[in-house]
Amino acid sequence: KKTLFSGMQATGNLTLGNYLGALKNWVTISDEYNCFYSVVDMHSITVRQDPAVLRKRARTLLTLYIAAGLDPVKNCIYYQSHVSAHAELAWILNCFTYMGELNRMTQFKDKAAKHADNINAGLFTYPVLMAADILLYQADLVPVGIDQMQHLEITRDIAQRFNSTYGDVFTLPEAYIGKVGAKIMSLQEPSKKMSKSDENPNGSIYLMDDKDTIMRKCKRAVTDSVGIIRYTDDQPGLKNLIDIYCACTGKTPDETMKEFDGKGYGEFKPAVGEAVAAILVPLQEEQARLTADKAYIDGIIKENAEKAAYYANKTLRKVQRKIGFPDRI
Ligand code: ATP
Ligand code: MG
Repeated sequence: KKTLFSGMQATGNLTLGNYLGALKNWVTISDEYNCFYSVVDMHSITVRQDPAVLRKRARTLLTLYIAAGLDPVKNCIYYQSHVSAHAELAWILNCFTYMGELNRMTQFKDKAAKHADNINAGLFTYPVLMAADILLYQADLVPVGIDQMQHLEITRDIAQRFNSTYGDVFTLPEAYIGKVGAKIMSLQEPSKKMSKSDENPNGSIYLMDDKDTIMRKCKRAVTDSVGIIRYTDDQPGLKNLIDIYCACTGKTPDETMKEFDGKGYGEFKPAVGEAVAAILVPLQEEQARLTADKAYIDGIIKENAEKAAYYANKTLRKVQRKIGFPDRI
């Protein structure tokens, strides 16, 4: 079996974008791979976090992975901060990454603009930690949303650079981008991606939003004055709603256009809300059920951290030998 790695930050509340762009695909392909799904809490501290909130969100996120349908026995679901090899490999890879490469990263530019008071070195070297996450497990495949493509490319570049000096140490990972939902846009500003760190709560549907809130946000979504249900870049707000509808129902844009032929946004928007709620409400119920079972979740956290560390340390030891660190006696 080939290996798959992916992760999500425990920052903010998860959005429908995270679910449709990442988590949903994880569940679909998890059977075919040996999977590592991390709650990447070390990435989260590149922006300031309230410690109690971070701890709580990390646990909620880990539980959500399972609630979404990932079997925690077949898949390794763990906290990044519980496996110290991530930090150790990241340091080594930092020494194989150029400032110029990191300067080109658009996520850094976006986040630096947003957090001008805290442009820390961790925010700048974020892609290197992400490279370490992936390379530690010798991942063949990394399912991500389109926004992470650039980070995946730099991961490959770093791996290739290391391999060309030291021999075949790292597997070169490929990105896996789902067919639908790879980039869900903000409901209020369809030119921006839906993001959990967006200040405007109406732009995002949160996975924990109740049905009334979901319906309200869909009805208020920014569209246009054309008034016809068409899947086109000229109607970006509507196109995004069609993407959401299709991702939630399994229908295609063509089928959707036929279904709503001659109908207006007043009919389509509530249908989108219904489709989203039909996915999210059961997910929320499962999440609540699992959260109540503290001992079960604790067991998963412990066992999976050990399993992840076992694989991660195998790669780390190999890297340490290659670069000339003294052997352990
Ligand atoms: P942040 O603003 O804190 O970076 P985020 O919403 O971008 O939050 P991440 O934890 O950075 O969330 O990303 C988790 C996963 O969700 C990644 O695979 C990312 O590509 C995917 N993702 C994030 N936003 C979207 C979106 N709008 N549409 C599809 N996929 C997305
Ligand atoms: Mg992000």
